[in-house]
Amino acid sequence: MYSLHFMALSTRGALLSPSRIGDLNRSRVLQAFCDHGPLSRAELAKLAGVTRATIGNITNGLIEAGLIEEHEPREANGVGKPATPLWFAPGAGLSGAAALTQGSFEVGLVDARGEVVEFAEGSFDADAHTDAELRARLGRAFDRILPTDTDRLLGMGIAVPGVCDTERGVIVGSGQIPALQGASLVESLSRRFGLRVLVDNDARAQALGEKWFGRGRGEPTFASIQTGHGLGVGLVLDGVVYRGDRGQTGELGHTTVTLDGPRCRCGLAGCWETVASLGWLRQEARRRRLRDPSSLDAARLVAVASSGRVATGLLDDYADHLAVGMANLVQLLNPRLIILHGDVVGGGEILRARIEHHVQERVLPNLRDGLRVELSDLDQRAGLLGAAALVLSETFKLVS
Ligand SMILES: [Zn+2]
Repeated sequence: MYSLHFMALSTRGALLSPSRIGDLNRSRVLQAFCDHGPLSRAELAKLAGVTRATIGNITNGLIEAGLIEEHEPREANGVGKPATPLWFAPGAGLSGAAALTQGSFEVGLVDARGEVVEFAEGSFDADAHTDAELRARLGRAFDRILPTDTDRLLGMGIAVPGVCDTERGVIVGSGQIPALQGASLVESLSRRFGLRVLVDNDARAQALGEKWFGRGRGEPTFASIQTGHGLGVGLVLDGVVYRGDRGQTGELGHTTVTLDGPRCRCGLAGCWETVASLGWLRQEARRRRLRDPSSLDAARLVAVASSGRVATGLLDDYADHLAVGMANLVQLLNPRLIILHGDVVGGGEILRARIEHHVQERVLPNLRDGLRVELSDLDQRAGLLGAAALVLSETFKLVS
C-alpha cells in the first residue's frame, strides 16, 4: 500500500506508540510548512493542532537537525513582539530531481525551499536510443551535479511523460519515449547512487510541485494541467495527489469531446487533445491563412491577435477548446482551482482570462463562484520542482 494511505489510516488508530505520535506531530508540522510556507511557532501550533510546548520540542529537533531555521522577524503590527517565522534552511532537504521530455532532460539538485541548487541538461534521440543509453546519459548528468556524499540527499525523483506505477517504481509505458518502459531506470539510478528513487507521470509530479512550491500551496483540491503538444492532468484531491489503480489516471487529454472528431495519436477519435493542442492550433492557423503557422504558439498568437480579426478569433477558439476539457473536469470533481502549465503560460493574462471566461461559461451556475484558472508561476522549473516534491512528500509522509 502506498505510504500516504498508510499514514492516513494510522492516524485513525487508537494505539499509537509515543515515538509514532512524535512522527505524526512532526509530519503535521512539516505539512503546515508545505501548505502555508514560513510560519511562526504560534501559527504552527494552531495549524498542526498541537500545544505550544509540543511545537517547541518538534521545532527544536528540526532546527538541530539543520532542516529548518529562524528567519528575520516579520514587522510587528503595533502589539507585542514580532513573530519569528521558521522555514526550511537554505540547502536543507536536498533531492536529486530529473524531468524528461521527448528528446531532452533536465537534472537538478533541489532543496526543500524549492531552490534549484545545481542544474544540468542533456538530450537524446527518443526513437533511436535504447534504455541503456538513456540510463547512461541521465546517470552521467547526475554525476556532474550530485555531491559525492549522497547521504545528504533525501532521495531522487523522476518525472516522465508516461504512465507510471509509482508504488512499484515501474514506468508502464510512454508514447513519447518508448525506451523508458519498465523498472530499469529506477533500478539503475538507485544502484548507481545508493538512494531511493521515485518515478511519476510528469503532470502528476507538476501537481505535487504546485502543492509544495506554487499556487497549489494550501489548496486541498486542485487540478494542474499541462498544455502544448499534449494535454495531461495531475489531480490533488483532499490534499493527496490522486494516482488511481497502478498509476493509470489523468488521461483527460484522451476523453472524447467530439463524437465524429479526428483520429488521435492514441488511436481513439475525437479526443480533447485533437482540438486543444499546438497541433490543432497550427493546423487551424494554416487553414485560416495566418503567417508562419507551423511555429505558432500561445505567446505569438496573443502578440498578433491585437492586430487582426482572424488571429483574435483563433485565440478565442483556442481558449474555448481548452476550456471544454477543464469544464468537464469541474463538473465531475469541482476543483476550485485549475493551474495551467506549458504553452498557454506564454499567452499570459490575456489568454488566461479568456480560458477562465469560457470555463465559467461551460459549467453549471452553482459551480462558477470562486472557480479560478491560474497560470503556474513555477516557470521552466516546474518539472524539476515536481520531481523534488515527489521525494519530499514521500520522506515527510504528508497526509492531507
Ligand atoms: Zn487520444
